[in-house]
Amino acid sequence: MLAAIRSASIVGIDAFDVCVEVDVASGLPHWTLVGLPAGEVKESRERVTAALSNSGFPVPPRRVTVSLSPGDTRKAGTGFDLPIAVGLLVALGEIPIDAVNELVFLGELGLDGAIRGVRGALSVARHLSDQTTRALVLPPANVDEAGLVRCVPLVAPSTLRDLVDALRSGVLINATPGERTTTESDDTDFADVVGQESAKRALEIAAAGGHACLLIGPPGAGKTMLARRLPSILPALTEDEALEVTAIHSVAGLLSSSGLRLSARPFRAPHHSISSAGLVGGGGVPRPGEVSLAHHGVLFLDELLEFPRSALEALRQPLEDGRVTIARAALSVAFPARFSLIAAMNPCPCGNAGEPTRTCTCGESEIVRYRSRLSGPLTDRIDMHVTLGAVSPQLLQHPSDGEASLAIRGRVEASRAVQRRRYASLPTAVRCNAHASGRWLLSHGAIDREAKALVTSAMESLKLSARGYHRVLRVGRTIADLEGSVAVSTDHVAEALRYRPR
Ligand SMILES: [Zn+2]
Repeated sequence: MLAAIRSASIVGIDAFDVCVEVDVASGLPHWTLVGLPAGEVKESRERVTAALSNSGFPVPPRRVTVSLSPGDTRKAGTGFDLPIAVGLLVALGEIPIDAVNELVFLGELGLDGAIRGVRGALSVARHLSDQTTRALVLPPANVDEAGLVRCVPLVAPSTLRDLVDALRSGVLINATPGERTTTESDDTDFADVVGQESAKRALEIAAAGGHACLLIGPPGAGKTMLARRLPSILPALTEDEALEVTAIHSVAGLLSSSGLRLSARPFRAPHHSISSAGLVGGGGVPRPGEVSLAHHGVLFLDELLEFPRSALEALRQPLEDGRVTIARAALSVAFPARFSLIAAMNPCPCGNAGEPTRTCTCGESEIVRYRSRLSGPLTDRIDMHVTLGAVSPQLLQHPSDGEASLAIRGRVEASRAVQRRRYASLPTAVRCNAHASGRWLLSHGAIDREAKALVTSAMESLKLSARGYHRVLRVGRTIADLEGSVAVSTDHVAEALRYRPR
């Protein structure tokens, strides 16, 4: 007897249909699983047979063949336990075949028959939203997450036995997602930041134009504090962006079982001991890395020069394309990775160089060697270098009356709207000034003749490369957009020039 059960699997953060066929035939007891299963899928045999037997449905000694199609795509995850078990029960005549029509099954089985949560349920629900489906049968632990996609009915039995009873009786009770817990931004606000006005200005420009930014300053200058507040001035996430961000965290297994929807822009701050795979994604079954967890948000790399060079070089692709592609023998997986990069470093190994009230203990050659590590493929992609001084103790005693993030965000959103209109006819990878090519800006960016002349003359004094030249144009364009100015003037590029390394 043959049964075909609908299920789904994930590549990157996108789900695709999988048909689970189960055939039970007479012959010597044997279990065959085909269709490019990953290790954890192969192990489903042990979980499924134990769960069935402990739920009162011992698998008779027959020849069992399980086939996952399409057969040429690798299947990962533990979510096939449930469709395989249901397929077996249909094939054995325990569940009427009509009972599983237009149902999609996803879930891991405990040996006792409990239906356990899986990764990526939100992606499966998103995938099913434009298909004809009676319901998605999934673990109770994934209901809140999958429920974010409102149009897909969910059924969430807690045990295999409950599921069989429901399918036999034909009464499927829809699960209701719990209260939508959301992560609002954690109260960080630029109003709390004492002093550092020029750094705040720089971060406003970075937020407005999507520019990568390097903060250089001594310990205690507030680099981390400033970076942590960048999400609070970025435009609010749209509904679609929030779902996409939540789906990435779901695939990474980082969504709490309470069905968190990430409604604030992510802020990721990996330690410099992270591997390249941890940073950009990887693994036998590719998982998203920090760059994808920071999608639509902020990736903060503190102590930039301590990161291994290989990890920093791996950042080039996502910085350029807004996505990461991980190639494996059986599949190539792409994860979205469009993030704002904020990096931070000390001015010298001891951290005190350039501070009037502190003593730098580093030798000149030591500082030169330290700084030279900056010239790399990554720093070449950082539009803005911002130098911060230590905050004076007198200033710290005053309660801050800095401008609130909400007001800054208003200006950022207005300038982003101008940029979206400007780049509307270009490929979707280009939506803000940071992604525009210097050449395009030179001819279409409304840059004054005097402004161009100023940057050209600065090329010599600052030893700007052609890339550096384009960087100044991009940042200058953003400064003009923040001001609501159609043309980029000498004032705008003069400010942009301050963000070139000395
Ligand atoms: Zn020093």
